[in-house]
Amino acid sequence: MPGEHRFPSPLDVPRDLAEQALSGSFDVGDARIHHITDGIMFGRRRFWFTGIDPALWTAPLGITDPDTEFPVNFGLFVVELAGAVTLVDCGFGPGIHDLGESRGGDEMRHRLREIGIGPDDVDRIVLTHMHYDHCGGLVTDAGTAQARLAFPRSRVLVHAAELAYWTGPDSETDPMGTYVRARILPVIEAGLVTTFDEEAEIAPGVTAIPMAGHTPGHTCVRVTSRGEDCLLVGDLAHHPIHFRHHDWLPEIDADPRASIEARGALAEMAIDLDAIVTGPHMPILTLGRLGRDATGEVTWSRVEPGDASRRPASAKRGGVPRA
Ligand SMILES: [Zn+2]
Repeated sequence: MPGEHRFPSPLDVPRDLAEQALSGSFDVGDARIHHITDGIMFGRRRFWFTGIDPALWTAPLGITDPDTEFPVNFGLFVVELAGAVTLVDCGFGPGIHDLGESRGGDEMRHRLREIGIGPDDVDRIVLTHMHYDHCGGLVTDAGTAQARLAFPRSRVLVHAAELAYWTGPDSETDPMGTYVRARILPVIEAGLVTTFDEEAEIAPGVTAIPMAGHTPGHTCVRVTSRGEDCLLVGDLAHHPIHFRHHDWLPEIDADPRASIEARGALAEMAIDLDAIVTGPHMPILTLGRLGRDATGEVTWSRVEPGDASRRPASAKRGGVPRA
């Protein structure tokens, strides 16, 4: 139901992978934002609630069995604003096929083509972090002599601490290390990587906001246009309920304490800005606004894609012109 004040249930989306949405779009002011998938799967997600009594987290999600499979989207966002195309993350790439039963896999390039964006149309890619499901699409044929940049003229922007971790000795024993290095090194060699270490506007209306904890340089992205805001939260929240329960997601965070603090700060920011919030692992298209109830608990109000922008559609300018 539109505007509903309850957290989404894994039962809200069709169980059949063939029925999963592969892309969805919404507007924020003059920005056109697309959520597209690089692959979708269902899986048990007890580790999203590590150490928490299942009775506490199953009830608000409308389930009784803690082994209920959740939809997991390996998604990314495309922001079209002020004549520029910015990708926020770039998917898993072909490696997603190793994850087992999934819909799609290495889908990003197909989905981009469907919205009229070719490899040379992308101006920049900002990585929320460099886990393999967020940076895997930087190159094609990774690890072979044929490896080439998937987006040949795009700059890649990433937090300096994130790049340092994945290209330095600390990630050598990380299970994702080899996969990630094979994707980022060709981009570094091409001279296309730029780092930031504090909040930075990386494109008109697109701001990188460092929120470390999930990884050393994890970053959220704020899109602002005509007084409206959207926060693309990266992996700070795998499910909207993590915006309320900041400590329910510790197992996959490199620094759980920092991540819990970052989730709190992000929720505060989203409430202050009355921003649309969404994340790459949520089903397409999961949009909401955060608020507080009478007891001060964070609330989630689902927003329909057509209602994301407060500006009437007739007042908008056209999208990014492309030849
Ligand atoms: Zn992820």
